[in-house]
Amino acid sequence: MRIVTVPWEMTRLVTERREAGQSVGLVPTMGFFHAGHVSLMRAAREENDFVVVSLFVNPIQFGPREDFKEYPRDLQRDVEIAAQAGVDCIFHPRVEDMYPQPYLTFVEVEGITEGLCGASRPGHFRGVATVVAKLFHIIPAHRAYFGLKDAQQVRVIQKMVEDLNFDIQIVTCPTVREEDGLAMSSRNVYLKPEERRAATVLYRSLRRAEEMVRGGEREAREVLAAVREMLETEPLVEPEYVEAVDWEGLRPVERLQGKVLIALAARVGKARLIDNVLLEV
Ligand code: AMP
Repeated sequence: MRIVTVPWEMTRLVTERREAGQSVGLVPTMGFFHAGHVSLMRAAREENDFVVVSLFVNPIQFGPREDFKEYPRDLQRDVEIAAQAGVDCIFHPRVEDMYPQPYLTFVEVEGITEGLCGASRPGHFRGVATVVAKLFHIIPAHRAYFGLKDAQQVRVIQKMVEDLNFDIQIVTCPTVREEDGLAMSSRNVYLKPEERRAATVLYRSLRRAEEMVRGGEREAREVLAAVREMLETEPLVEPEYVEAVDWEGLRPVERLQGKVLIALAARVGKARLIDNVLLEV
């Protein structure tokens, strides 16, 4: 497995592979790999001749009071996990090579970035869209893989690709969970043991929502109230939002019909955790 740090070298390597007739898959990540990341690598491995994983903790998607500095990092371990998953190349650029100073150019996806996580993380999705646009230019892949755990991010990337005519296929992969249902996240390492136990309420409450909808409930208000009520049973969990939105526009819905995302964010100790279920009603 190769490790490339210089953007133009990465572009040259991928361009050579394309010209040799190979298909290229890209998995953008911030590292500190868990089974969720590995599921994306394996999906990319199955569908492409050449698989690149980018590993870059992107400073511009973190707010000033967020965890950029503390974000967990372990390059050595990540390299081993990626090699094990059959990845061909890791792209691990330096911040100064991704953002030459003064850095002045950004990608702003409007509308769908206003609600959900966008409401409490101003500038977050601008940072995400900008870095992913840059990665798509540096690594001209045929396909890029994203996890539905970050559902709003998926919609932002899909819309950016559509609006800016990127010639790349966005492949989405289901959320990988711990045995007790907690969505895997690099940020789960922030949880103390009692917080880790309490955090299982996130997915339990979403499962309850899913069951209510399967049982015929169509009023978003009822379902969201049940989710909030369940979250309240865990004093260590401090909900930030619980919402039901349409998949296309990520706008709050009153009636649950069509493709509906039930999404939540909560603080548990030092960690801000998100989770969701995507329902076809
Ligand atoms: P991150 O390193 O957290 O930025 O995540 C990199 C990619 O892995 C993103 O596309 C995430 O949506 C995806 N991902 C993170 N956690 C999970 C998970 N539990 N299941 C599936 N994909 C995930």
